[in-house]
Amino acid sequence: MQRLTLLGATGSVGRSTLDLVTRHPDRFSVYALTAHRNLDALIGLCLAFRPEVAVAADAQDAARLHARLRQEGVRSEVAHGPEALCEVARSSACDRVIAAIVGAAGLLPTMAAARAGKRILLANKEALVMSGALLMHAVAESGAMLLPVDSEHNAIFQCLPQQGTARNGVSRLTLTASGGPFLTRPLDTLHAVTPDEACAHPKWKMGRKISVDSATMMNKGLEVIEARWLFDMPDECIDVLIHPQSVVHSMVTYADQSVLAQLGNPDMRTPIAHALAYPERIDSGVVPLDLAQIGALTFMAPDPVRFPCLRIALEVVRAGANAVVLNAANEVAVAAFLEGRLRFTGIAEVVDAALQRTSGPDPYDLESILATDRRARDIANAMVIGTSTTK
Ligand code: NDP
Repeated sequence: MQRLTLLGATGSVGRSTLDLVTRHPDRFSVYALTAHRNLDALIGLCLAFRPEVAVAADAQDAARLHARLRQEGVRSEVAHGPEALCEVARSSACDRVIAAIVGAAGLLPTMAAARAGKRILLANKEALVMSGALLMHAVAESGAMLLPVDSEHNAIFQCLPQQGTARNGVSRLTLTASGGPFLTRPLDTLHAVTPDEACAHPKWKMGRKISVDSATMMNKGLEVIEARWLFDMPDECIDVLIHPQSVVHSMVTYADQSVLAQLGNPDMRTPIAHALAYPERIDSGVVPLDLAQIGALTFMAPDPVRFPCLRIALEVVRAGANAVVLNAANEVAVAAFLEGRLRFTGIAEVVDAALQRTSGPDPYDLESILATDRRARDIANAMVIGTSTTK
């Protein structure tokens, strides 16, 4: 029986994970569930899964959660705040940590799990983008294991030789991308898209931040950085390829020009089930792939004019610097877009402008990473105000 800490239980990845827990009660039990704004959803999950610990955002939410659970006869311990997230991530009472908080808020608990030597199922790509060298070092030092849940990275992980010198035969990684909801939308209408249009992803049902990142293709830029760290691959050996059907989840090319790909219907329960049970395989509840019904799989190169965020992110990757700024500015810009304070096309402008104002190698220690993150957010927030008032 594996005991899970689920960071970000109320989110899209969190709920897919809990669906798998429900399907496999003989394998998985819940040690801790955490949430942020969505207290009612956390209460519902606690009633259903009865974790040992539930973590809310603040003291007020924790008091409400505590009262409600006791009223229902649920004895879960209730905690709150960022340190409590780290505590449940490093607790000796849990075996696996699912890092499914969105954004930079996931960094500290993911790092805590890494330092405690946990098996980490990583969805929170922003944590790795911000602290790639440090997080990979912590994993290596403690003997932790980082299993990718992001579908593309999970696909690559499945196609790579598991260990040893066979790794030397890998020549390229290809990350596929659906292209999002605006792949064919006229370019001169992009400035007017609404948050709901940007979040209406044609293939994946995801949280709002990653949905916007998919619409701008910043998501793929973050994923190139993620792949660079996870697989220790030089960035010039990582490609991006648009594949609107989202059936081929990514590919690995070997020196002999064999290309291995992992295929499946676009449903996060497949990569989560793979990482949860690894190295075994379990039923995921995902509908079997019917290639005859799909008929055609198509591929194309991304258009840097349509997707300036991808172009900017790839420039950051090639420069080997400013990933913290890229991530922070993007989080600020996407939040502003979702709140109606910034146009869709303003996201790339804000990120670009924030990068112009900062330079230098990425910081290596946690304090400097967090300080750089705060500074970049201040700059990006100022840009959002400037950008939205001049349009
Ligand atoms: P959601 O927005 O659906 O869920 C995010 C989760 O994080 C929620 O539980 C939310 O709590 C919690 N959260 C948000 N802010 C904070 C904070 N400041 N402190 C603590 N907890 C917080 O996101 P997704 O599930 O879509 O994505 C999660 C991560 O997984 C992201 O990094 C994303 O890039 C990655 N990912 C997601 C995929 C998907 O299919 N959804 C695919 C691949 C990667 P609450 O709801 O209570 O506010």
